[in-house]
Parts: sequence; structure tokens; C-alpha cells
Amino acid sequence: MTPKDGYESVIGLEVHAQLLTASKAFCGCSTKFGDEPNTNVCPVCAGLPGALPVLNTNLVEFALRMGLAVNSTIAPRSTFARKNYFYPDLPKGYQISQYEEPICTGGSVEIDLDDGGRKKIRLTRVHKEEDAGKLIHDIGAGTLVDLNRSGVPLLEIVSEPDLRSPKEAYLYLHKVRQIVTHLGICDGNMEEGSLRCDANVSVRKKGQAGLGTKTELKNLNSFRYVERALEFEVDRQIRVLEEGGSLEQETLIWDANRNIAYPMRSKEEAHDYLYFPDPDLVPVHVDEPWIRRVRAGLPEHPTARRDRFMKEHHLPKYDADVLTSEKGYADYFEAVVKALGSANPDDAKSASNWVMTEVLRVVGEQKLEIGKFPISPARIASMIRLINDGTISSKIAKDLFAEMLQSADDPKVIVEKKGMVQLSDESAIRKVVDEVVDRNQAQVEKYRAGNMKIFGFFVGEVMKATKGKANPAIVNSVLKKKLEGVRTP
Ligand SMILES: [Zn+2]
Repeated sequence: MTPKDGYESVIGLEVHAQLLTASKAFCGCSTKFGDEPNTNVCPVCAGLPGALPVLNTNLVEFALRMGLAVNSTIAPRSTFARKNYFYPDLPKGYQISQYEEPICTGGSVEIDLDDGGRKKIRLTRVHKEEDAGKLIHDIGAGTLVDLNRSGVPLLEIVSEPDLRSPKEAYLYLHKVRQIVTHLGICDGNMEEGSLRCDANVSVRKKGQAGLGTKTELKNLNSFRYVERALEFEVDRQIRVLEEGGSLEQETLIWDANRNIAYPMRSKEEAHDYLYFPDPDLVPVHVDEPWIRRVRAGLPEHPTARRDRFMKEHHLPKYDADVLTSEKGYADYFEAVVKALGSANPDDAKSASNWVMTEVLRVVGEQKLEIGKFPISPARIASMIRLINDGTISSKIAKDLFAEMLQSADDPKVIVEKKGMVQLSDESAIRKVVDEVVDRNQAQVEKYRAGNMKIFGFFVGEVMKATKGKANPAIVNSVLKKKLEGVRTP
């Protein structure tokens, strides 16, 4: 037992999700990522004096979707506040956020633990706010500012300190990502900054009730970093305590290149936030009919969908997890199953295998959105039918799949055009087997001497001679008869 085993970590996450609204939170500027710097800017988001913000209703709509999906309490009346601080990427000198009266309070996100159990992570609140601009340090001598991101709407999702390990924090973040992408309110792309995460971390002796001194860890901008950064900080805190030192409440920045967290230079970065109600924005009133309408339009919760895939389609948990990790994957899989029109669990499993291996491989390699994948679910279904009725082997199906990526033709047409039909004629196969056996007498001797492994060599030769088209089951049975015949003349 190491000293570390005597401790547990207490972690809470603040996740910022950039919302997929077409325009910014309080003006009509586009939110498109990657546009020329400072092209999506107007007097409102540039913070010019006298410019007045107007609330984008979709921001409320998206916040309601999230709040209802995680069982938050929706406030009938919520207000906006100004979070005042000075920073060069913040032209107004304040950020519009929510403070005393957020739109959603409470709720929870359920995570799946490694031992098969589930754990509810309570949420403190979900509130709306706007993003700041972006400073660019690596072009030319000075620092440049791009205000395209200024005013882009965010949801801040704040958890209670219910996470007990860096692993749990990682699982929680995954689940939050899964929920926001299923709801269609955020693309979940951490690398592009659509999902950002800060953490509050403290440690305490196991069994201790009170909380230890916490630090805030910022800049956890990739799934890979979150767990690693938290492990670093938890280890550091335990080491300080074990050496008899005391911890300071401070903000740390994670440096992914050096694998360390270092304290923020306090004078430069520490914000002494001052909040007050924003006099330019009226309170938001949400009534019951609005909540009912949003609730009725909510897609199936990813966890419920995962469980349904296991029950209805008899998929293993692993498959169901992968397929529901993104709404698009789950939709695609279900479209294949629907096109197959079969209640046979084997067909659902084939559909799952093709989506998980070939479809997602190409999607990953070409960095495609699944919605833009060139092969429709209906064509995958007809390919699976061709395998099921013996027209093609699974081996040929791989080649067919590659052809389908290039051609919009029906798989049946491609199979005919390219002569991919499986060779199932037993007498034709027997002829090839005879030739292969005649040609390879030395191997036949070895087989006769009891080297059964040599059987695979004969199968390979027959497949080579038929360009992979021979039906493997027939090849096996014909070969077996032939070789047994040779062994005992
Ligand atoms: Zn604007």
C-alpha cells in the first residue's frame, strides 16, 4: 500500500459548451469557425459604446434542451449579469453571463463505471454566457486579437464535487459530450475548442468528511489531457501533504507539452470578478407550454438509447457504447437495421460490425461527418443481404465496400459489373482443388504425415487460384474429402 491509497480525490468540473446557433448570443453575426479574423464582427460584439445586445432566442431554446435532458429545474424567470474584468480579448470590459438567477439549477449526469455500476454526478447549474475573443501570439512580433469568437454563445455546465478520481472525471466529460452532441446543441469538438473544461481539485484522507484545500486547473482542452492533468494535480497535492506541507488555493494552467501544471502569474491573470445585473437585457421568462414543447422535441437520451440497442437489437454493451457515442453513428446504424427489415439479431450484429469497423474507419481516416459518408445505410443493407444469400463472401464484401465508396451504384450492380460473384459451383471448385493438390505433392505428404496445419496452405492456394471468389465453406469440404482420400487410398 502506498501513501496514495489512503487518499481520495474530490473533483468538480466546469464544462463550457459552444452552442451550434447560426448567429451569436446577442447580435446577428455568424458563429462560423475558421473564417478570416475579424470578419464576423459588429458594434455589439466589438463592444462599441451605445450598441445594445438583443437576445438570440435559440440560446434559451438550447439551454432548455440541456436542462431538461439532465433533469435540471428550469427557472420561470432568469436574468443576465455582467461579469466584469479587464482583458484584451474582452472589448466591453465585461462578459455577459448569468450569476444569481441562472436558467437551470440542479439535475444530474449518470456515468458508467468500469465495474458495470452507474453513478449519478449532481449538477450545480447550467447557465448561458457569451465567449470572449481570441488572442493570437504566434504571428508577427506583437499580439493580435480576433473578435470573431466574441459573443459566441456558450453553456456553462457546472458539476458538484462528486467525482472521486481522474477516471471518473474523464467518464463524466465523455457523457456530457455525448449528451450535448445528441441534443444537437454543440459539435463536441474539443480540439477546435467547442468543448472546454476547467476542474476544481482537492484531496482528502479516505473517510474524512470535510474538504481539503482546492486548486483550479485550467486549460484542459483535450480528452487525453483531462485525465492526465488531473492525475498530475492529485499526485502533487498528496505529495505536498505527505511531506507535511500545506496547499495553497490557487489557479493552475495545464501545459500539455511539458506534462505539468504551473500556477497562473497572479498579477497578470487573476480576475477579481465583479458581477452586477445587465441593465441592457430584460429577464427571460419561460412558461410551461414552452418547456412542454422543448421536452416533446427532445431526442432519446444517449444512455436510454444505448440500453435499448442492447435489449432490442441484442448488441453487446461494447457495440452499443460505440454506436451511441455519437448521435450520427446511432442514427446510421438504426437506418441500416431498418433497411434490412429483419428481426434476426445476427443481422443487427452484422450491421453493427460493418458500421463499427469499416464505416467508422473511413469516417475517422477522412475526418468526415457521418452525415456526409458516401455510402447510404440502404446500400450497406443490400451489401449485407448479398453476403447472407451467398452471392458474395465476406472477403469479397470488403472489396465491394471499397468499390461502393467510389461508385453510387447499387451493390448488386457493382458485383455484376466487376464479376465479384462468389464461386459456389461445387464441380468447378473440385476442379481447382484437384489441380492444387496435384501441383503440391510435397505438401500432401506432410499432411499425410499428420501436419494438419498444412490444410490452411491448400485453402490459401485454392483462394488464390479463384481470385478469392470461391465459397470458403465449399472449399473446406471439398478439400477435406480430397485430402482424406489421398491419405487413405
Ligand atoms: Zn456582432
